[in-house]
Amino acid sequence: MEPQILSSYNPATGLEIKQYKSLTAEQVGKNLKKAHKAYTQWRSSAMKERTALLRSVAKSIRKHSDAAALLATREMGKPIAQSRAELEKCAKTFEYYATEGPRMLQDELIFSEGKRKGYVSFQPIGVVLAVMPWNFPYWQVFRAMAPVLMSGNAMVLKHASNVSGCAMMIEKIMKDAGVPAHLYQTLLIASSAVASVIAAPEVAAVTFTGSTAAGRKVASVAADNLKKQVLELGGSDAYLILEDADVAEAARMCLEARMINTGQSCVAAKRFIAVKSVRKSFEAALSELIKQVTYGNPEDPAQQIGPMARPDLRKELHSQVTDSIAAGARLLHGGFIPEGPGAYYPPTLLTNVKPGMPAYSEELFGPVAVIIEAKDEADAIRIANSSEYGLGGAVFSRNRKRAEKIARELLDAGSCFVNEAVHSDPRLPFGGVKHSGYGRELSSFALREFVNIKTVVLG
Ligand code: NAP
Repeated sequence: MEPQILSSYNPATGLEIKQYKSLTAEQVGKNLKKAHKAYTQWRSSAMKERTALLRSVAKSIRKHSDAAALLATREMGKPIAQSRAELEKCAKTFEYYATEGPRMLQDELIFSEGKRKGYVSFQPIGVVLAVMPWNFPYWQVFRAMAPVLMSGNAMVLKHASNVSGCAMMIEKIMKDAGVPAHLYQTLLIASSAVASVIAAPEVAAVTFTGSTAAGRKVASVAADNLKKQVLELGGSDAYLILEDADVAEAARMCLEARMINTGQSCVAAKRFIAVKSVRKSFEAALSELIKQVTYGNPEDPAQQIGPMARPDLRKELHSQVTDSIAAGARLLHGGFIPEGPGAYYPPTLLTNVKPGMPAYSEELFGPVAVIIEAKDEADAIRIANSSEYGLGGAVFSRNRKRAEKIARELLDAGSCFVNEAVHSDPRLPFGGVKHSGYGRELSSFALREFVNIKTVVLG
């Protein structure tokens, strides 16, 4: 494993920000040993010590919030207000686990028969490797880290190569929080080095967030080494607009859910499936709203969307749009590569989207809204479930009972919302089914992912 140069570019200007040299194999080996040593001490820490540490991390996140937010905006183009909000959500998540963690990790009594007793205890398992994407460069890492540390484990991070500055900022936040040395470490490495880290004896498990293609590779290496994994992969969330929906309100929420983070969110609303009777009115409402979305310099708080994170991602998105148009989709707004520097892509609206088009079956990771017409409710559910993904979904209808039945029983997805956009919250389990992955982040369920659920029987 030769050291490589990891470069950060500002996608708003195309200019290089900084180069980072990746670690050598020898350095990685040493760091993993240190991480494992830190784990052997942390695993026996008292709950009080863990909650104090989590609160201290929350404080440190807030202390560094302005600088960290600006760094994310510069490295991956997120509008500055959204970068700040992301850091606040990270701090709140650490506070959530500091408050709720001890209760969630309490032993569970299974039986008590005279002196004989059986219970379950949640024991840490070791060093967890986190392989993370650039789209929420702090949230993805901190949401995975809080339950890992709370349950007595250690974490090493391999972040996406285009956000090495954010990765180093996380290291700084952790150091300033007084985290025991090496309990958390940023490993600046290329993706080609991930397999050897997974295989290292000091690493117990891996949590991966990113594309389905890379997740498949990480999962197969983890499987070869018989190591536990959580996979948070791609999504193509369907939003169903039924004939009794409040169309104006649905269009407003749908657009917001599509444009968040310039459309680069795993749980962005990616397919709007409108039943025939409301398709035209929904399309008209969305067309009006999308014209008002501003895009430009992400450091300017007046802009709603910034550039995409990298020019190659914009190129890929634009091909998905043009291939869909060539196959018969109708372009109602946007759909072009703007002149000038930066990886900007305009808010775009496609309708008449049908099977066989990329916009129908692939994940569109950018500010492109897609309308698909369904014959009726059953057809809308069928189309929603025809995707290979199953991360989130939403149903819009004035009949809450009927919408709840669809959300609860009929949509194949990890999170389903009624008359509300899909979003994450530390209290709610988050994850997918099908090619969106397996395992859960957040809530009490995340605390159970990387623990030895140990049966103890006293005779
Ligand atoms: P990506 O290309 O899969 O990269 C994610 C991480 O995996 C990066 O750290 C990357 O490192 C690493 N990686 C890439 N190929 C690898 C390989 N063969 N072996 C080991 N590691 C590898 O994904 P992305 O473009 O950053 O993120 C976008 C995708 O993530 C979308 O599909 C989105 O839906 C998904 N996502 C899912 C969730 C969720 O919670 N379900 C959340 C956010 C994003 P390098 O940068 O060095 O290549």
